[in-house]
Amino acid sequence: MADHEPPPPDSPSGIVHGDRRGGVEHGAIHKPIHTSVQYGFERTEDLIGVFQGTRKGGFNYARQGAPTTAALEAKITGLEQGLGSICFASGMAALSAVFLTLLKAGDHLVSSRYVFGNTNSLFGTLGGLGVAIDKVDAASVDAVRAALRPETRMVFVETIANPGTQVPDLDAIGALCREHGLLYVVDNTITSAALFRPATVGAGLVVNSLTKTIAGHGAALGGAVTDTGLFDWRGYPNIADSYRGLDPRQWGLQQLRKKALRDMGGTLAPEQAHRIALGAETLSLRVAQTSASALALARFLESHAAVERVHYPMLESHPQHALALRHFKAGSWLLAFELRDSARMPAVLDGLQLAIKATGMGDNRTLVIPVAPTIYWEAGAAVRAEMGIADGLVRVSVGLEPADELIDDFAQALSRP
Ligand SMILES: *Cc1c(COP(=O)(O)O)cnc(C)c1O
Repeated sequence: MADHEPPPPDSPSGIVHGDRRGGVEHGAIHKPIHTSVQYGFERTEDLIGVFQGTRKGGFNYARQGAPTTAALEAKITGLEQGLGSICFASGMAALSAVFLTLLKAGDHLVSSRYVFGNTNSLFGTLGGLGVAIDKVDAASVDAVRAALRPETRMVFVETIANPGTQVPDLDAIGALCREHGLLYVVDNTITSAALFRPATVGAGLVVNSLTKTIAGHGAALGGAVTDTGLFDWRGYPNIADSYRGLDPRQWGLQQLRKKALRDMGGTLAPEQAHRIALGAETLSLRVAQTSASALALARFLESHAAVERVHYPMLESHPQHALALRHFKAGSWLLAFELRDSARMPAVLDGLQLAIKATGMGDNRTLVIPVAPTIYWEAGAAVRAEMGIADGLVRVSVGLEPADELIDDFAQALSRP
């Protein structure tokens, strides 16, 4: 490597130094928080150029982007090794942007059956708008192939599903999408680019909830969509005519920025972008430690007499263990377990001293939640059965507490009468 070559943007050094790459005012170590909503220009021509998308890197009105969010977008793009990214106010705003601006009535979407509960609820809204959705067991590429129709536009999966930790056949689905010219959208929230880059399996768009793994501190909501540059937008029928004059590689991002950020307004605030960027500096350390602790805790729980089943991709007992080993550097902080006697669940959870009973994930603190009566309550018993969510299922988001302390905490809670 030459002396002045910057570290790769997805490396630990690249993540830490990424903020300075676009030039930082006054030599500041962090990208400053720019709160200005409007941006003025010396020359009318430049103002016009920003509106028409012909002048690169300018800002006009902060609903469509601002310097602090742009620095975070560059960091995410570097992590995912993509073409460009757009940040949103939350992970759900990012997912809504993808589905609402790239699909229209009459289109068909094939999704993994195992997706984040709010994403599943959003599919209900999409159905009402005339988008047909088939939910399949994406651990089998054959199930995805069998669901394809002439109107299929998009295939959607999560890398490791929350809460059941199912893993789709990521690379085979990528090959299938390439073969059929379909947009492959991968939600990388649980793994993050520190464990897996969806571009390596042919994803066209990557979605990250920045609230979780990337920020880590649980003190800011945010989401991002990254265009990997792998999808050929020229074959996508839903791009508006007004964007077809640009370089075709930019069509997807332009439509997302204009139709979602500008028109729908789910914009990430600069203060939140700054907090997320700070959290992201420790991403590689956090992901390595929480994955190691989660595996240790999963092994302990699996060996415990009171535990019926543990869901964690790096356990040999996991149905997609081989897929997980092939794709992911480690298993992430997400695990779930079922007690043999689900009636004991409240007492066991109340016995935990270290882990906090709370929703949310990817936090520096270990969080536990009984899944069926909380996040999957609104979905109803039929959906829970279809998604394999048992009444006694407990989700654990493993934090930065040392593994032996976490194991001791679960051991004492499980041994309570
Ligand atoms: C949490 C989560 C989201 C939504 O992110 P928010 O930032 O909470 O809106 C989307 N996908 C997955 C897999 C998630 O875990």
